[in-house]
Amino acid sequence: MEIQYELTKIQEFFRRSVRDLAKEKLAPQAEDIDRKVDYPKEAAALLAENRLFALLIPKAYGGEEAGFLAFSLAIEELSKYSPTCAIICEAQNLGARLIADKGSKEQKQEYLSKIAKGQVNFGFALTEPEPVSLDFGASTLKAIIDGDNYIVNGDVRFIVNGDAAEVFSIFANTGSADSARAISMFLVKKNLPGFAVTKVDGMAGSEARFTCKGTFHDCRIPVDCLVGKEGDGKDILLKALPEVSCATAARSVGIAQAAVDASAEYATTRVQFGRPIGKFEIIQSMLADMATKLEAARQLVYKTASIVDQGNQNASKFAAMAKNFATDTAVEVTINAVQIHGGYGYMKDFPVERLMRNAKLAQITGITNQIEQLIIANSLLTFTQG
Ligand SMILES: Cc1cc2nc3c(=O)[nH]c(=O)nc-3n(C[C@H](O)[C@H](O)[C@H](O)COP(=O)(O)OP(=O)(O)OC[C@H]3O[C@@H](n4cnc5c(N)ncnc54)[C@H](O)[C@@H]3O)c2cc1C
Repeated sequence: MEIQYELTKIQEFFRRSVRDLAKEKLAPQAEDIDRKVDYPKEAAALLAENRLFALLIPKAYGGEEAGFLAFSLAIEELSKYSPTCAIICEAQNLGARLIADKGSKEQKQEYLSKIAKGQVNFGFALTEPEPVSLDFGASTLKAIIDGDNYIVNGDVRFIVNGDAAEVFSIFANTGSADSARAISMFLVKKNLPGFAVTKVDGMAGSEARFTCKGTFHDCRIPVDCLVGKEGDGKDILLKALPEVSCATAARSVGIAQAAVDASAEYATTRVQFGRPIGKFEIIQSMLADMATKLEAARQLVYKTASIVDQGNQNASKFAAMAKNFATDTAVEVTINAVQIHGGYGYMKDFPVERLMRNAKLAQITGITNQIEQLIIANSLLTFTQG
């Protein structure tokens, strides 16, 4: 398989314009966004104004149809200055992508242009309190048909954008307990009777401030909220999750780049034993390793994004590799960045402790790195016996 990618002049120009915007407008408030309890409405409005919520939305529905590689570039650049804003941008675009791919004409008309404009925020609600089997076969969220409605019961956890979202994707069991064909996707509006969204407090990082849990208690969801057909949920997830992984990987590259930049700058200015610490070979060696792994992660992300754009069947294996490698790299690089900053690295006055927390989150969210490893291993192994 030979997948070629090279950034076009338009993509390079686009990357620079997102970088300039993020540096000028988001960087000054990144610390504030990280600490505030509320959804950063002004920053989100800025992203929408600059069409960054429209990147994966088809032109026919008011989007930019910019492609996954361009979207990944935008996530990387936003993440350098504010990983939280990158997550908001991911949620909008990837949520819209679910609707654009499998939604009905009415669902597309209702949501897509509003998501692009930031008039509707999207909440991706997949995680449940109980583990769901690896083939998405046994959701504990139940949806039972009753006339023109499904009656939904159960809980979802950790919905990014939750408190500020107007529409949520849920994946509920519409059939027998362990049939993989039983999972179906629904679009659920906020304020539906029987559906409550509440904030989850007490997390280590900013994303927690707008991470919510959702509870369904005999909630009646109209049948026209079903996306695709009953039982399409597994196929929808199998296509969407590699894209979520690739976006998380792109975000991690941005985080790692910010950590390398901050460390290089600090190493040239911090003087110890009569010279800048960057003149010590051991610091140079750390910086060189950090920059090398970062670049390797970036290339894997761009290749994966190009594979997604080309609709290649290997997307899930490459996305798992990209997510694993880029998030592990970001964790290692940000920990080393804190180390290079010495005691100051542990202080909130410097950005590297925030980057370290954001890097750690990326290893956990979406598909965890352990499950990504299973995906990679499964693509390599063929057993003839059970
Ligand atoms: C800030 C934040 C934001 C989030 N945003 C969202 C969101 O918007 N939407 C959403 O749906 N979810 C979201 N999540 C949830 C996140 O995706 C899950 O926490 C994550 O998928 C792990 O699920 P879990 O917590 O149930 O861990 P578990 O599944 O209980 O896993 C615990 C550990 O066991 C490992 N493990 C589990 N099964 C296996 C296995 N078969 N083999 C090997 N190792 C295994 C895991 O890798 C992990 O290390 C968010 C979480 C956080 C913290």
